[in-house]
Amino acid sequence: MAQPRQTPPVKRVHIKTFGCQMNEYDSERMAEALGTAGYLPADDAAEADLVILNTCHIREKAADKVYSELGRMRLAKEARRREGRDTLIAVAGCVAQAEGQEIIARAPVVDLVVGPQSYHRLAALVAEAEAGGKGLVATDFPAEDKFAHLPQRARQRSKPSAFITVQEGCDKFCTFCVVPYTRGAEYSRAPSEIVAEAERLAAQEACEITLLGQNVNAYHGRGPDGQSWNLARLLRRLAELPSIARLRFTTSHPLDMDDELIALFGEEPKLMPYLHLPFQSGSDRILKAMNRKHTVADYEAVIAKVRTVRPDIALSTDIIVGFPGETDSDFADTMALAERARFAQAFTFKYSARPGTPAASFAGQVPEAAKHERLRRLQSLIDTHRRAFDLAAVGRRLPVLFEAKGRKPGQVAGRSPYLQPVYIEGPATLIGRIAPVDILAASPNSLTGVIKSGFEWREPVQAAE
Ligand code: SAM
Ligand code: SF4
Repeated sequence: MAQPRQTPPVKRVHIKTFGCQMNEYDSERMAEALGTAGYLPADDAAEADLVILNTCHIREKAADKVYSELGRMRLAKEARRREGRDTLIAVAGCVAQAEGQEIIARAPVVDLVVGPQSYHRLAALVAEAEAGGKGLVATDFPAEDKFAHLPQRARQRSKPSAFITVQEGCDKFCTFCVVPYTRGAEYSRAPSEIVAEAERLAAQEACEITLLGQNVNAYHGRGPDGQSWNLARLLRRLAELPSIARLRFTTSHPLDMDDELIALFGEEPKLMPYLHLPFQSGSDRILKAMNRKHTVADYEAVIAKVRTVRPDIALSTDIIVGFPGETDSDFADTMALAERARFAQAFTFKYSARPGTPAASFAGQVPEAAKHERLRRLQSLIDTHRRAFDLAAVGRRLPVLFEAKGRKPGQVAGRSPYLQPVYIEGPATLIGRIAPVDILAASPNSLTGVIKSGFEWREPVQAAE
């Protein structure tokens, strides 16, 4: 008599992501790679047979979070073991790359350490760990292209706004930054691979795509015509996809903002009026010590050009306070640049010494109290400008891409072209659509409004103003 066929038990993976959007993208790709190996997603670590912490090493605080999280994971693993279930624990991302074997020495609960360049080997490594492999570490920079070896993005959940990593790594070696060590040398994916990924995402109802890279505007992929394509050319090609209504890119370096890319802000309506362009410090002396290879004047010349072609652009930036040797006068220069530039958004950080980077051993480390005070003053200035930018939207009609339900019942949340969060009262059927919204108010972190009267909610609308 035929034996009933055994269905293999369902395995579940929980991925917790720390840090930047590139890590979020990597987490999606890891979930897809594990999906083909039979792992379904788990919302809760307690239900997972495999827990992956996708980590960030950019500042000390971010890296420390991993070890406190691993402490919690050890307790969860012990609780599951008491119920007769096993849990594999993996550390991925930039802490994995930077600390490798040391993680297992410090936290023996970890079964597997996998750096960002080895994600295409993840399913095989997990299988090895399941088979009893202990303390596996994969942190080399393999010669093969991981993107070409990751499974195609067929299992992606449909999201109105999607990310695609187009460029990874960095050759610029700012003296404070771990990225060149954790993500390796600069590498650009081929345009044909990116266009194919965008087409698949568009088929799954994405209508906005954000291109990601540590230095996204240094992008130079080999095109199907054999030529080197820059970011402007790639964006123009993606703009040809009919169901992609919005394009964005981040993060850019001031040195790589060429005139063709700047001009695109005035020429390509699908390119959203938002530019994230870190300046780090308003003092040329500190910029030199940071090895940024640009001056304050270079930076201001770039933003002046961008504002000429797109006067309404929302400019965003990253700023570090308390870099070694930063005096009150250097900091005053940073405040002055922020005052002149009037950013719509800014990410401000206290300098954090990172092991292995040149600045960690520079003389003149700034005391914590001074960093704290400078950060407070800078954030207060930035908040004033952000608020002014948001208030200028009140009374305007903006096309909003709705992405999710809001925090309150009956609310939907979306983004303006300037990346401002916008909330309205409306049906969930708006999610995935662009609709004209009359902005009524600006609260500290978002805008609220109403759909333009007479707008038909049920018909698909791509562009609306
Ligand atoms: N590639 C981008 C650029 O050139 O500006 C930035 C990438 S980095 C992942 C994001 C931001 O983290 C940087 O712009 C910088 O402001 C901040 N950052 C990097 N290293 C830091 C450190 N050691 N301490 C404080 N902030 C840091
Ligand atoms: Fe880090 Fe950006 Fe500098 Fe590269 S350019 S080293 S990613 S801050």
